[in-house]
This record gives sequence, C-alpha cells and structure tokens, in this order.
Amino acid sequence: MIPIEHNIAVTRARINRAADLYDRKRSTISLLAVSKKHSLDAIKEAIAAGVIDFGENYLQEAEQKIQQLREFSLRWHYIGGIQSNKTQAIADLFDWVHSVDRVKVAKRLNDQRPPTLPPLNICLQVNIDNEQGKSGFAPENILPVIAEINALPRLQLRGLMAIPAQSDNESDRQNSFARMRTLFELAQASIDWQSSRTLFDTLSMGMSADLEFAIAEGATIVRVGTDIFGSRDEPTSK
Ligand SMILES: *Cc1c(COP(=O)(O)O)cnc(C)c1O
Repeated sequence: MIPIEHNIAVTRARINRAADLYDRKRSTISLLAVSKKHSLDAIKEAIAAGVIDFGENYLQEAEQKIQQLREFSLRWHYIGGIQSNKTQAIADLFDWVHSVDRVKVAKRLNDQRPPTLPPLNICLQVNIDNEQGKSGFAPENILPVIAEINALPRLQLRGLMAIPAQSDNESDRQNSFARMRTLFELAQASIDWQSSRTLFDTLSMGMSADLEFAIAEGATIVRVGTDIFGSRDEPTSK
C-alpha cells in the first residue's frame, strides 16, 4: 500500500507543475482532499501530511467523522447532493458547501445557519454540460441566481463548482472547463464584488483524473479523492 502522505506529495507536485505550466500562481490553487468512504485513520494520515480541507458527500458518514475529529482544526466541505430535509445538518456542520444547486436550498441554508457560526461559504454547482438528471444550475440561468443568492446575509457566495460529463475524450472535458472559466468571468463581472461583503474568488473543478485541465482553465480548488486515498471500493485503511 502506498502511504497517503506520499500520494499527497505527488498530488501537490502535480498541482504545482500545472500551475507553473499554465502561468497560475501556486498559492491561488488549493487542494480539497475528498475523504468520502474512507476511514478516520486515513483522514488522520492526511492531517499529519498537512491537509486541513476535507470533502464529504454523505451526511451521516460526515457527521461521525466531524464529531470524532473535533480536536483538529479542519475545514469541512460538503460536496454531495442536497435534499431539502438535510440542509439543517449541513448548515450546522460544514464550513463550505460546493453543491448548492437550487435557490430554495440556498435560502434554507441561509435561514438555518446557526448565528454562532460565521456565514457559510458556498459555491453554486453548474450543470455545465446540460446533462439530464445531473444536479446544478443551467449555465444560462446562473447570472440572475447569483444576484439573488448574494443577497442572503448568512451565506458567503464564493464562486462556482462543476463536475463535467464523463467522457473518454479529453478535449470534451477541457472544453467544459473552458466554458466554466467563461461563465466564472461573466459572473465576476456581473456584480460589484469590491463593494459586496463577499469575495467571489472560487472556481471548484478538477478531480484525480483531470486536475491539470481544470488548473489550465482557472480552477482555484481541485477536489481529489482517489489519487490521495485510493479506490473507494478497496479502502486504503480499515
Ligand atoms: C468523489 C468526488 C470527487 C473526487 O473524485 P476522485 O475522482 O476520486 O478524485 C470530487 N468531487 C466530487 C463532487 C465528488 O463527488
């Protein structure tokens, strides 16, 4: 078994190499370690390697992990599908939500964010390839939605997130990331963010298989699971 610490070093080196290649400042790209379906021990190994940002998709699993890792100063990112009846728990537990895909969900998270916590950082998920059955806002609807959600005081609208369509053709994914970049730039230009209380600075895209393409198109958070923790069918630790 290859240690997680080594996998993290390799992933960071990939990020840095892509940053240099595509003229991005290394410091503007952060690594989100996607720990879904992996054990507490695996997460602790990543913590020992300096990771503080973890992504989870399943609420019950995340609740337990967050509870049991309370002694560490971590940032928890919810990246899974959101059912309306789960928003309270998400608002209670997480620092970031990348997968906000409906105005109704944003409003519930805003209303339910506990007053003792700072505003919840969110990204709006975009269904960039207009896939049937995939969550996310349609690209053509995003601008009016941004204005509406940016007005919610208990949220910090930080940017956009996407999961491009599965494709064996690399240029399809590059193309999806490029359209996300254009949309992100349009969104940045659509609001006077300087005088807004929020920094609209986050483009969450790129996973184990394609983070270089995402960085080429401006990703500021890459979400990496498999290449850090191993396959989710055969967890690296018990
Ligand atoms: C599981 C998941 C990831 C990580 O994918 P890998 O291919 O394992 O790196 C990233 N983003 C989201 C939204 C996920 O659900």
